[in-house]
Amino acid sequence: MSIEIQSNLFENIATFEHEQIVHCYCKDTGLKAIIAVHDTTLGPSLGGTRVWNYTHEAEALNDVLRLSRGMTYKSSISGINLGGGKAVIIADENVKRDEFFWRRYGKFVDKLSGKYITAEDVGTSTKEIEYISLETKHVSGKPVFLGGGGDPSPFTAYGVYLAMKASWKKITGSESLQNVHIAVQGTGHVGQYLIDLLAKENAKISIADINAQNIALVTSKHNVQVVDPNEIAKMECDIYAPCALGATVNSASIDQLKCKVICGAANNQLKDELLDGNAVMQRGILYAPDFLINAGGVINCYSEVLGNYSKEQTMSLTDMIYNRVLEIYLKSEIEKINTQQAAISIAKERIEKAKNLNAKW
Ligand code: NAD
Repeated sequence: MSIEIQSNLFENIATFEHEQIVHCYCKDTGLKAIIAVHDTTLGPSLGGTRVWNYTHEAEALNDVLRLSRGMTYKSSISGINLGGGKAVIIADENVKRDEFFWRRYGKFVDKLSGKYITAEDVGTSTKEIEYISLETKHVSGKPVFLGGGGDPSPFTAYGVYLAMKASWKKITGSESLQNVHIAVQGTGHVGQYLIDLLAKENAKISIADINAQNIALVTSKHNVQVVDPNEIAKMECDIYAPCALGATVNSASIDQLKCKVICGAANNQLKDELLDGNAVMQRGILYAPDFLINAGGVINCYSEVLGNYSKEQTMSLTDMIYNRVLEIYLKSEIEKINTQQAAISIAKERIEKAKNLNAKW
């Protein structure tokens, strides 16, 4: 039997600068996973396990390489001592993802001896994390009853809220969000917690979602304006908060934006970090770098990894987002680069400086 192998894996590793890629396959459970360890200079790599219906293995590989590198920068800019990693599981309708599937996956994670710590992502919840934790201690985002931090969304929302206050201070001199008009796209986990914080501060809130139930949950609690999902990004407002999908800030949408600040939880908001980041800057709109301001979730995992988990510790570690955002805006102004580039540059610099230090983790 001959096997035809077509791969440019080493080329990919060279481009993205990953330390290790592990392909995991279990014949008995049908598990197919790829774990990518991007960089462990600052600490063990941490990142969630994503389950996705990839059309091709190459698509899964590309996703895990990109996402794990993103985790390296997210942890670095947040000042926490974690590296970047991520795992993807190729969803298959013929494969049952039961307790034993997840425990089998936990065994693969365990074989990396702590170089990779897993957590939740799209397609995994505290239930799966509980199964994985039966086979490995290298796991975070455990349910509260197992001593974990549980749902990270309140912390993610808190970080975004702090970033909004810092951004508003940057352009008006005041951090108060009272009567500031904020358009929240997506009223899911993070969106709802964010709206709670904004309502407490008497902001003027507009919301949109394609899920009527989530809209109803918000309107039952708060006095908000409901907007068509196709209109929210184009509406006249002070702050546009993308809390649903990625890539909503792109060459087609940028000209239509009527906000002063973009500040939301969604990952990868800029379709093209350089071109769209520059175009936003040229329009005079302040963009709060997504991978920093939505770091509350990974900070919550870090709190758990440190041991003796407490919400207070996560909140206090998340507080740094406020000053970090202001630091990035200043760097962007001085160096005339867009804010996303300024943030990536700070993240890379911390890793470079730590490279010769031999930290023990
Ligand atoms: P979620 O799935 O709970 O909520 C997303 C919401 O967006 C849903 O209510 C969905 O109906 C809505 N939505 C989808 N398409 C839409 C559209 N076209 N227009 C308007 N609404 C739409 O997800 P979440 O956990 O709240 O996360 C929101 C975003 O933040 C995601 O991009 C996620 O990757 C990112 N993020 C979340 C966390 C976290 O702690 N949950 C951490 C970091 C980043």
